[in-house]
Amino acid sequence: MVQHTLPRPPAASIICVDAGVLIPGRGPPIRNATLVAEGTRIVFVGKQGSIPSRYAQLESTVVPFLLPGFWDCHVHFFGAPSFATDIVTSTPAALAGARSARDLAATLNAGFTSVRELGGYGAQIAEAVEEGWLAGPNIYSSVSMLSQTAGHGDAREEDMAVLCSKMRQNMPFYICDGVDECQRAVRTMVRRGASVIKIATTGGGSSTDELQARQFSDAELTIMVQEAEMAGLAVAAHCHGKEGIKAALRSGCRTLEHASFADDACIALMKEKNVLFVPTRTAISFALSHPQAWTPENYRKIVQLAKANLRTYTKAIKAGVGIALGTDIGLSATTLPLHHGMNGKEFVWAVKAGLTPLEAIEAGTARGPESLMTNAIAHVNTAGDESSDGEPPLTKVPKSGQLNVGFDADFIAVSDDPLINIAVLAQPEKITHVWKGGKLYKEPGKPVSIL
Ligand SMILES: [Zn+2]
Repeated sequence: MVQHTLPRPPAASIICVDAGVLIPGRGPPIRNATLVAEGTRIVFVGKQGSIPSRYAQLESTVVPFLLPGFWDCHVHFFGAPSFATDIVTSTPAALAGARSARDLAATLNAGFTSVRELGGYGAQIAEAVEEGWLAGPNIYSSVSMLSQTAGHGDAREEDMAVLCSKMRQNMPFYICDGVDECQRAVRTMVRRGASVIKIATTGGGSSTDELQARQFSDAELTIMVQEAEMAGLAVAAHCHGKEGIKAALRSGCRTLEHASFADDACIALMKEKNVLFVPTRTAISFALSHPQAWTPENYRKIVQLAKANLRTYTKAIKAGVGIALGTDIGLSATTLPLHHGMNGKEFVWAVKAGLTPLEAIEAGTARGPESLMTNAIAHVNTAGDESSDGEPPLTKVPKSGQLNVGFDADFIAVSDDPLINIAVLAQPEKITHVWKGGKLYKEPGKPVSIL
């Protein structure tokens, strides 16, 4: 036997938390529970009396309610004060990154330890978070949103395609037309570090196109989904109108974002195909209550989609469609009422739309990683497991969003019972502790800071 002479890595730090109630993200809450994490993984979850003897001597942090770190499945780190495509594309990347430092800290401080970023500078700034320069959540980014010419991500400038592709600048948007360009666009996102692919299959409230306008042909959508799945990535579709929703479903997109005008047939197809619905109610309700933030043309569309979106949300819950919480928060401006760190409001909307508090918590925790799974992985639900022939599945989906052995050591403590009052999850001051990757980032009297 070969003797190992390499120096051993330092012993992983061990954390022990005793909770009055532990809400695991999926499954029933456990009273008087203990969680132990070693390094970046959870190694024990169970009743306080059943802790293995090797952990029995650990000093524990005592909290009333312990939950998995939250997932927001739809954010943007634009670093810009407006969603308007021309404002986003004209914001220098360094300025956007500098502004995002505060947004990252605010997100983590609100208990959100992971985000799926669907267009923005997330893939770039994630490196600074991983290196420890900045405090922030785990970021799973699409890099750009892919859009057709004259589509939702087109700022309608003549040189838009050049602007989006040069020197890794202006990465939030990327224009592609025709099967070949669409295929290359997905490959480009993979090369730039995408964890998910984001496409727009209809117009949008913040752009100059119409909500009902169908975007990308079936052939373009099919090649993009196929190419994404070859790289092990899921596809998220921005959509409002019925035709674009149906096209996204036909082509095999994994999540539908907004899906405002989904009718009963669309909802039945969502259920049948086991796709996840990301309603983005926080940003939509903000948009509706702030007409002054929009041009009259944009606001006309926002009124139309906001009503329809809530109706769809309620119907989708009744039909048993899987819900993953996402806010569509993305602005960097401290003077606006919608900013990073308000992500927890989505829990309140979920309960208003018909989920129980426990279901809403699952939608904002255990469902999160499922929004990154290709349909093939989601259907067999074996992320991280080897197949019978020993080949690991092609997936970058983290084991996260649940308080279970083997999962990421991302968990938070809450001062009040969210099963009685879900609104406590929308108040960052009620999130007393935040651990991410086994490291404590927030404790009473010490909020997450950007330094
Ligand atoms: Zn969005």
